Amino acid sequence: MARRDGHQCTFVAENGQRCPARGKLEFHHIDPQAKGGPPTLSNVTLCCKAHNGYAAEADYGTEVVARRIAEARQSRRARALAPGTVPAPELFDAATPFT
Ligand SMILES: [Zn+2]
Repeated sequence: MARRDGHQCTFVAENGQRCPARGKLEFHHIDPQAKGGPPTLSNVTLCCKAHNGYAAEADYGTEVVARRIAEARQSRRARALAPGTVPAPELFDAATPFT
């Protein structure tokens, strides 16, 4: 699959230019998994982090994505503030993987 996509983000802009990103590629489900999309080769493409987030917003709506990010942040904070644990600073700034 990575070979099929040329180890490059498969996002194509409106002007027909393909995203040149080759680093930090993620799997993007064309048919969203949460909506019953199959985890098959043909349903998965490579996307850079930015475009995977962009696609997620398109699939789920910006509100859902913003809420998911806020929820993830909150649960991380709750865990970090749990008694007996020392909050690690990177927990607050770590990028939220969207799955
Ligand atoms: Zn991209």
